Amino acid sequence: MLNNHDLSRCNTFGLPCVAQTLFKFEQVSQLPELSTAINEFAQHRVLGGGSNVIVPPNLPGLTIQVANKGIRLLREHDNFWLIEACAGEVWHDFVAYTLEQGWYGLENLALIPGTVGAAPVQNIGAYGLELDQRVHSVLAWNLLEGELHEFSAEECEFSYRDSMFKRAKSGTWLIVAVRFKLPRAWQPLLQYPDLRDHASLQAAPTAKAIFDAVCEVRRTKLPDPTKVGNAGSFFKNPVVLAEQFELLRSQHPNVVAYAQADGKYKVAAGWLIDQAGWKGRAAGAVSMHPRQALVMTNCGGAVLEDVLNLAQQIQVDVQQKFGVQLEQEPVLYA
Ligand code: FAD
Ligand code: NAP
Repeated sequence: MLNNHDLSRCNTFGLPCVAQTLFKFEQVSQLPELSTAINEFAQHRVLGGGSNVIVPPNLPGLTIQVANKGIRLLREHDNFWLIEACAGEVWHDFVAYTLEQGWYGLENLALIPGTVGAAPVQNIGAYGLELDQRVHSVLAWNLLEGELHEFSAEECEFSYRDSMFKRAKSGTWLIVAVRFKLPRAWQPLLQYPDLRDHASLQAAPTAKAIFDAVCEVRRTKLPDPTKVGNAGSFFKNPVVLAEQFELLRSQHPNVVAYAQADGKYKVAAGWLIDQAGWKGRAAGAVSMHPRQALVMTNCGGAVLEDVLNLAQQIQVDVQQKFGVQLEQEPVLYA
């Protein structure tokens, strides 16, 4: 265990942060030891790549950094490959590896920062693919009870940027590995305009071509967190009832929104923030990105207070202008 460990480079927003004690989790044999160790601290939490967290200057108690590695083909079924990846694998590297092996189906989720173990927590999604469409099961250690569980995709209660892991009391679950069901009969997913209209994807695109296109588009549109601190989309796209959407559309005919299978509407939070005048606007040492209004960036030297202040100003303004409540996507560590 490491005391007073600097985590400023372990959160992509680049906020200053010192963990009171850090435990690096590298293998399954450490799990019982971990469940004992947490009893010595008043609080504990799990950290992956730090790309979806907002951190305070001091993190009291125990911080568990997930770093276990390994990828294996568990079974070849008639219809799918069953692949297991350890939680500490880097997500993008894992996606690239699956494609090299000819196991297609994760290419739309290329270049999402972070680890495999965090991917089920908010059911990561991009370009028309949500993680739950590819999850077979999740192996998770209950840190409080000291037991390993395997949850089917259904038991994970996945929904839009959410799962039972995200809703559970912080520090309950440590995801150890994720099992993926990758289809042998692969179909490209090209409904998002940036892929549908991409020059390289017009005739019978391969999974590798989609992977490359996603990487290219993302590099063009999004700030690189190794250069400009950020935690990706700062707010979730609000999903509203049809009646609320009709009212919104009657007042703002150009509102960008997408009908959902359950009759609700997913409103583009980036559009709301842009229309409210926050795109490219700075406050303190943070600003909303000039190309992607949904991404808050660190202009240099930002602290937690800057982040929370700007987030709150935007939430209040969007609520007043559009009657829509924006929910923060990154997890705020206490
Ligand atoms: P962390 O930030 O370390 O943790 C996030 C949460 O997961 C915390 O609550 C943590 O406690 C928990 N957690 C982490 N690992 C485990 C584990 N092994 N067991 C239990 N709990 C755990 N997200 C998308 O959905 N789609 C995108 O397209 C996308 N693009 C992004 C682009 C950029 C530039 C950035 C910076 C972020 C983006 N994100 C996106 C958000 C982020 O990359 C994902 O949420 C990612 O899965 C977070 O992984 P992480 O390892 O960094 O998790
Ligand atoms: P975009 O393609 O400009 O789309 C803007 C918004 O509209 C997105 O939020 C997306 O919702 C939604 N959308 C677009 N086409 C859609 C369709 N055909 N059906 C349903 N919804 C549609 O978005 P972008 O900013 O360039 O990002 C591209 C993708 O990367 C998106 O999927 C986005 O979620 C993902 N991304 C996520 C993060 C993060 O931190 N969570 C950061 C960067 C990028 P969805 O968000 O539901 O896809």
